[in-house]
Formats: sequence, C-alpha cells, structure tokens
Amino acid sequence: MTTPKNKIRNIGIIAHIDAGKTTFTERVLFYTGISHKIGEVHEGQAIMDWMEQEQERGITITAAATTAFWYKTQAGRTDENRHQINIIDTPGHVDFTVEVERSLRVLDGAVVLFDGVAGVEAQSETVWRQADKYKVPRICFINKLDRMGASFDFSFNSILERLSKKAVPFQLPIGEESHFSKIIDLLQMKAVSFSGEHGEKVTYEEVPADMQAAAAKAREYLIEKIVEHDDELMHAYLEGNIPELDKLRATARKAIIANELVPVYCGSALKNMGVQLVLDAVVDFLPSPLDMPPVHGTDKDGKDVFRKPDDAEPLAALAFKIQFDPFVGHLTYFRMYSGVMQAGSYVLNASSDEKERVGRILRMHANNRAEEAEIRAGDIGAIVGLKKTTTGDTLTDEKNLIILEKIDFPDPVISVKIEPKTKADQEKLALGLRRLAEEDPTFSIRIDQETSDTVISGMGELHLEILVDRLRREFKVEANVGQPRVAYKETVTKKAEARGQYIKQTGGRGQYGDVELYIEPQARGKGFEFVNDIRGGTIPEEYIPACKKGIEEALGKGVIAGYPVVDVKVTIFDGSYHDVDSSEAAFKIAASMAFQEAARQAKPILLEPIMKVEVMTPENYLGDITGDLSARRAKIREITDRHNIKVVHADVPLAQMFGYTTQLRSLTQGRGSSVMEFGHYEPVPQNIVEKMKGDTEKAKK
Ligand code: GDP
Repeated sequence: MTTPKNKIRNIGIIAHIDAGKTTFTERVLFYTGISHKIGEVHEGQAIMDWMEQEQERGITITAAATTAFWYKTQAGRTDENRHQINIIDTPGHVDFTVEVERSLRVLDGAVVLFDGVAGVEAQSETVWRQADKYKVPRICFINKLDRMGASFDFSFNSILERLSKKAVPFQLPIGEESHFSKIIDLLQMKAVSFSGEHGEKVTYEEVPADMQAAAAKAREYLIEKIVEHDDELMHAYLEGNIPELDKLRATARKAIIANELVPVYCGSALKNMGVQLVLDAVVDFLPSPLDMPPVHGTDKDGKDVFRKPDDAEPLAALAFKIQFDPFVGHLTYFRMYSGVMQAGSYVLNASSDEKERVGRILRMHANNRAEEAEIRAGDIGAIVGLKKTTTGDTLTDEKNLIILEKIDFPDPVISVKIEPKTKADQEKLALGLRRLAEEDPTFSIRIDQETSDTVISGMGELHLEILVDRLRREFKVEANVGQPRVAYKETVTKKAEARGQYIKQTGGRGQYGDVELYIEPQARGKGFEFVNDIRGGTIPEEYIPACKKGIEEALGKGVIAGYPVVDVKVTIFDGSYHDVDSSEAAFKIAASMAFQEAARQAKPILLEPIMKVEVMTPENYLGDITGDLSARRAKIREITDRHNIKVVHADVPLAQMFGYTTQLRSLTQGRGSSVMEFGHYEPVPQNIVEKMKGDTEKAKK
C-alpha cells in the first residue's frame, strides 16, 4: 500500500551525544510497531545501531534510513490515520558533522533532543546552526525530565537564549525529577498520562487543579504566539475569540514549516513518557514532501532546473549514503525528489555521466528489509548493487536530465599509517579500506610513494579509530596504526616561472620534453586550475594532456615537505619538441619538473588545519585552561558564561590538540569537557616550520 504524499514525513532525530537519541529512537520503533521488544541501550541491543561497535560506544554513526508507520494517538488504526515516517539517522558526535550535514540535506524536518538536566550543550549549538543552514523545521524535545536535577524551565530558557527566540512550549510537565508524572498538552488543555508495560497506553485527562493556573497562562502565551502568524486569527483573538483547535494547529503548522515557530515538547524516553506525543507532533507540524519547494538543480549547460515532488515529473533522486550491508551487499540510499524509481530500470548518474541498472530496491525497517517494485517522489529507499554511484550523485532521467547540488565534504585533516598485523592480511586490509572509503567521502587512502606505507585520513582521531574498529569487525583484519599526523597542505604565495627539460639523446630512441610554465596563488579553497596558453604549437596539442597530468602528479607532493599542494593556478605558455624523441612520458616528466621548480621559486608555505574548540570548565580552573591553551598556540576568541561554568572559545592548530581530552581531565579533575570541529586552514608560523624540518631531518638519521 503506497502512502499518500501528504502522509509521508522524512525526519531526522538530532541530539548531543548522550541526550538519549538511541533510547528515544528505540521507543519510536517500538510504538510504531516494528520492534516488539524494547532493547535498552545499556543492554547493548538497540535496533537502530546497525553496527556492533556503535552499540559498545553508544553512538550512532551511519545515516541509515528506516521506515516506520504511525497512527496518531487520538484517532483509530484506520487507513486515514496511517502515516509513514522515514527516519534518517544522524550521528551525534562532532567528528561526524559531515554525516549530519548530508542527512540534513535529504530530510524535511527534525526532532531535536535535549538532556533536561544539561539543557543546550555545545554540540547542540553546532547542529542547530547546521539545521538553520538547511532551513530544517524543528520540534524540540526536552528529554530526561525524570532525572535528578532536570528542569523544564531551565532547559527551555537555554533553548530560547542560545538557539532560537522562536521557541515556544507546547507542553508543560507535571512534576519533575522523581515526581515527573504527566505531560500537559497546552493546545488541548489536557493532561496526558502513560500506562502499560512500556507506556504504550496514552490517556487524556483533565488538568489537575493545582496546575490549572500555570497551564492556562502557558496556553495563553502559546495561542498568542500562534495567532501572530495569521492576521484573521489575530483580529478574532483580539476581539476575545479563541480559535478552534484545528485552526490553531493549521496555523502553527504553517509557521513551524516556515521556521517562524519552534514547538518545545518534553518527557522521558527512558520512562516511556512523551515519545508518542512527539510522533503526533511530527505528523501535525513537520512538513510532508508536498510542503517542500521544488528541488533545484542544473542541466548540462548549468541552466537552472526545478522539479516538483510529483510522480509525473521526470526522475530526480539524490544518492545520500552508501552502506555496505552484510546480507545484500552494496546499498545506495536515495531520496526521491520527483518521478518514480523502478526496480529493473536504467537510470543515468548525471554526476558521473554513466548509466546504471537499478536492480532491486529495498525499504529498510528496523529489523527487516522489504523489497519494493518502486519508490515514488518524496520517499526514501535503497538500491542494491549500484556500482558507479557515490555519495552526493544525482540519479536522473537521461532525456530529462537534472544535476542536483553536490554535497560538500571537507578534506580530511588527520592521517595515520596503517598496516595489517600479519602480512597475509594485506589484501583483506586493502579491500576493507576501499569499502570504507566508498561509504564515507571524508575518509581517504593513500600509498606513500617513498615508504610504500598505506596512510588513511579522516576528520578526527575518533573517526579513524572507529574505522579501524570496523576493519576488525566487518573485515576481520587486525591492523596496527601509527601516530596520528596532521594533514598539512602546501600552497604558494607569489607568481613564479620555470622551465622543465627532460632531454636524453644518447644512443637509441631518445626522450625530449620541454615545458615552460608559471604558477600563481589562488584564493583559499579555489583548488587547482590549469591553463593552456601555448601559442604557435611550441608544444603540440597531443602532449598537453600529458603536461597537465605531470603537474597533477607533482601537486600530490609539495616541495616543502611532500604534502598536497592546493589553490594554485598553473599556466603553460611555452616549450619545444622533437619530431622523433618527444613522447607523452617525456612531457609529463618535463612539466612536473617545471612545476616543482616554479613552486620552489613561488615562496611556498605550509598550511595547517585550525580547529574550532570550545572548552567548558568550572571557573576555578579557568586560568589553568587558558594557560594550557596558549601553550598550544591557541587564539582565544572569547570566554562566555554558561550556567555556572565558563566556556572558552578558541581556534587551535590541530597539531596541538592530540590527547587534549586526557590533559583537560587532569587539569580539571574530570570536570572540564571540550568539543572541537574543523574550522579552516592557515599558514604554519615560520618557527614551527623550521622545527618540523629539524624533526624530519632527525627522523631520517
Ligand atoms: P545517545 O547517545 O543520544 O544515543 O543517548 P542514549 O539513548 O544512549 O542515552 C544515554 C544515557 O541516558 C543512557 O544511559 C540512557 O539510559 C539514558 N537516558 C536516555 N533517556 C533518558 C531519560 O529519559 N531519562 C533518564 N533518566 N535517562 C535517560
């Protein structure tokens, strides 16, 4: 049975690590009838956690999409009341911001969880800003209200102050901490209680007398905040008419979808309170695919193309996650923006310009997979066995092509050497690494040309640790890894010219390549640009691609310390050739020599990744923390207050941040915490470069 589009919701559940996402998701899957046993996180059997080590670490890494069906609590189990909720998994750890971004791109709305004791935490802000960027409508859920120290008011205020002035409570808790017993639905002015073994039975009752006044006041505030968004309602309200419930809901829905209003809910996932009401809210207030604007893309010539969420429109789908499934193999998760994806059909991958056969299509449920003949506009599915499609590619109709916007992935900032514990595992290691790199665009593998070592790179220490862990579990390869190293880059700071000649003409067939070029800096992030300015055929056309190739190879190994060279423009403008001795190989070498020489002349510099770091600490450790950060070459941007603690905001070179958490723990007797994410690249100060050179020399001896 296909779900009408207005009853589909594509949502993500996003949260600071430990806010209760796994527990919450478990409840969702239980109440939506898919899992029949609630697996507590501490028992390590949470359903959403596909991979073993996620269970051990209690964090969710992959963006698998799961389909669930929800019948609203106050309507029956009828077809009319059947809603399909596609849950797109989003990770909680900042090392995986890319995973968050990629999921934000394909979901239409989100539930954001907060720990009712801690309120808004540093990572919640990061993720919130990302969701702002993608204009994702949100529902907030203040979780863990049963915990000692929990406070709805405190948490709500932290949302209001730090995340959004548009946040408004749609509920109030009755009691908190161990007295937390019911939730008041302010729109309906009812108290809601939860009974049954897992709180599955939901009962609406009168608001208890001692809560009447507080609830009435909160309700008035809520209604004011809703009617603001509709002139007619506003007028009626000012004349003393309270709008009907349906009208209030419809107006709130519009405002929420427009990101003008953020409803705040509350409960305790662990104690089975409130999760069903959030599911009701997902249906009531988050957008269906029909509420989304037409998706934007371009055609082959770069002209704008738009596609409506309509089955009759030509096919447009975005591959947003590649995952290797142990049972069915290579899975490509995709979001359908328009048209219908049919099993057994052929589609064009507009990004790589290759045709692909869509073999089987699966819909993933928490604990089973359903085969589907087709997936329609607005829905999400997974294709088995696509070979040439990577994350971010557009699948489209050859005759009505659209290229959707690519997903931007930052370059890896940290790398380690990796080798199998036993020589015999070399092949298995290579295969495993290849698979992982296919799934994860922020993970890359490289063979060091000098040492023949395999070097893997990623977004942070934890990111690489988890990948090495997956190698062990999924590919049964035990690996040794070296010390983490910073992924430096090189670039140039002025224009310079050089000539490269590769000429060998003694005996037999010779070699003749001669290239003149200049190199100049480009704006940061602009990448490599190649310009052919050869006039009068001083280098024949047929050798130009070889020249480009030679330069590209040289880019891989900079002249300062062998790091990749970025943001340079290279123009070849002259050269010479020999009728017999010239060859592609000779021009490739000559171009690469010319590039290296020019780069040496062009004042090359080393760039290092700078991390945005936030350190939370009780005030009495503040001096030690800032002192330590300064010794790490930190630029302290500001120090702010956050409910009795100090927060230090700093930019720190990644090279100085290895092992920081351990140091922080000892400086603060375990009371400080920190988060960091990649910020930008900056030139390494000269004295540090000298020191690095010294270290390399020593290492060689
Ligand atoms: P995640 O890291 O966001 O996936 O968080 P988990 O779901 O793993 O929860 C982290 C910890 O908080 C676990 O020990 C949970 O049992 C606990 N927890 C989750 N929800 C609640 C709640 O509503 N109340 C209380 N008291 N604990 C909770």
